[in-house]
Amino acid sequence: MASETSKQESMTFRTEVRQLLNILANSLYTDREIFLRELISNASDALNRIQFEMLTNRDILDPDVELAIHIDVDEEAKTLTISDTGIGMNHDELIENLGTIAHSGAKDFLQQLEDGQRPADIIGQFGVGFYSVFTVADEVVVTTRSYRPADTGWSWVSKGENDFTLTPAEKAERGTEILVKLKDDASEFASTWRLEQIVKKHSNYVSFPIYVGDKVANQQTALWRKSPSQVEDKEYEDFYRQLTLDFEAPLLNIHLVTDAPVDIRSILFIPKKRDRGLLQQQGGEGLRLYSKKVLIQEHFKDLLPEYLRFVEGIVDSQDLPLNISRETVQSNRIVRQIQKALTGRVLKSLRELMDEKPEDYIMFWQEFGYFIKEGIATNPFGQDDLTSLLRFQTTNSEESLVSLDEYVERMPESQAKIYYILGDSLNAVSRSPHLDYFRDHNLEVLYLVDPLDGFMMQNLREYQEKAFQNVDDPDIELPEVEKEAEEKPETRVEETDFGHLIMRFKDVLGERVKDVRESHLLTDSPCRLVSAESGPERDLQRVRRLIEKDYEVPVKILEINRGHPLVRNLAYLIRSGANGPLVDSTIEQLFENLLLLEGLHPNPAKMVPRIQTFLEAALQHSEAEETE
Ligand code: ADP
Repeated sequence: MASETSKQESMTFRTEVRQLLNILANSLYTDREIFLRELISNASDALNRIQFEMLTNRDILDPDVELAIHIDVDEEAKTLTISDTGIGMNHDELIENLGTIAHSGAKDFLQQLEDGQRPADIIGQFGVGFYSVFTVADEVVVTTRSYRPADTGWSWVSKGENDFTLTPAEKAERGTEILVKLKDDASEFASTWRLEQIVKKHSNYVSFPIYVGDKVANQQTALWRKSPSQVEDKEYEDFYRQLTLDFEAPLLNIHLVTDAPVDIRSILFIPKKRDRGLLQQQGGEGLRLYSKKVLIQEHFKDLLPEYLRFVEGIVDSQDLPLNISRETVQSNRIVRQIQKALTGRVLKSLRELMDEKPEDYIMFWQEFGYFIKEGIATNPFGQDDLTSLLRFQTTNSEESLVSLDEYVERMPESQAKIYYILGDSLNAVSRSPHLDYFRDHNLEVLYLVDPLDGFMMQNLREYQEKAFQNVDDPDIELPEVEKEAEEKPETRVEETDFGHLIMRFKDVLGERVKDVRESHLLTDSPCRLVSAESGPERDLQRVRRLIEKDYEVPVKILEINRGHPLVRNLAYLIRSGANGPLVDSTIEQLFENLLLLEGLHPNPAKMVPRIQTFLEAALQHSEAEETE
């Protein structure tokens, strides 16, 4: 006995471990349950390693013992033990692993604290691992015996303060047993029920059985580690519901299994609905991240680009370090490779859905089309994969949605560009004078009526080598269409009169227009407003008006249809010099109509008194006609 005690060694922890212990023990009360995940993860590693060792090494203690993890509780004594039949540790390994060695997780963790992070916010993001047991323990006794038959058992004891002791121990079996003496305020963990819940939540897919008492608490087989051909639709659906608590089945499952360039086992889902209520808000965005079947983070946002944040699912990669931190994620090569693979796969699946189940794709578009547009708007490069996913209403198809492929397919030979019109609503754009010419010549125009569309157009330059062209472009070039017996010349306002009419418009509108000129495109509408400058910035004007309070849309050019009856009558009135006030208010009203159609009218209600005057004049006029 005396020789035993003389063998006891006391040692102090390395500085950073001491600091870490201090912080863990004193400042961390939330998320304490993760200590169990960490201990199970270590046990699972130890079991993995013995499994590997057994492939090549015959000289192993207890070769036939079950590879398993046991969690046992003593509710009275407020203790629990987590034991495994893994690789175990000898004297030197104990010191090295649990005492002195610089722990990279500890260092990173401390660095983050220095940078002002709160421990509770970041604890889950580091493999601070073993030491997290001190968030619930007053004292921990690790009794372990290495798999090497010549080594004997040792106990490591610590109260999580400055030091630990090592004592030889009687341990017959290979493996590690961790006795946790719970703090008074952590007695909740001395409950079989509670421990089962924690195992299911955090370690359900560990591949070794985890016994809590005499019952296995974890599921073990990870669905995502199975080959996709072996998983039934029903299993995906159940898994989705468990993951998201959505009561509807997902619209799409994506199961990705690949070994190169990185190991990825992933199941992703696209939900049916964008808005799934409260449950979704509580969960937050991001994928569940596993490494070697151990849950690393419940909502990991960096495995997919921001715009794919509606995708749900899990990713497991052996190549990811367990102690990856949020800050190092962005620069982590493996994370980037995983992101690339997952993104490519999601987009590919969407294209397949588009081809194979067009109705489902339209459902997708109606719920999540917004995110695809955002993807284009936020990625100056590499939006090619996204463009073919877009859907539009068009002049030829106001009811059903059209893809750019369909649009390009039905372009007449002479048409070189993809035309679009921006506006606030389908109602407004479909009545726009800009469309006169396009309608007459059966040229299809895309309706862009979502505020996001202006942003999107910043990055959308061409599709299948066809440039995009806003129909209000001042120098728009139109395809050579057969010169049908042009407008009948006698219906056009005569040259000098038209000159006077233009002068009058300029006088009345002044600074509010950049120029007034004849239009060569209008047929059914009397006039239109075109942008003074072309270029993608102007597609943003509409959006800027919504978000910047003082933003003023640059003044536009007014174009007049010389053959329109209204214009002819106006020219007649101007020449006769009659009813000047009516001429001026007609010009005002025409201009404001255009602002309204463009979605640029600051206060449409202001037009009401003028319209009333017009109505009165019209009624008087018809009265006069009747009495004649
Ligand atoms: P990490 O697991 O992230 O390396 P930990 O602090 O959790 O960090 O553990 C430190 C080391 O202690 C492990 O790398 C492992 O070598 C050893 N260890 C911990 N638990 C066990 C165990 N149950 N069996 C064998 N070795 C263990």
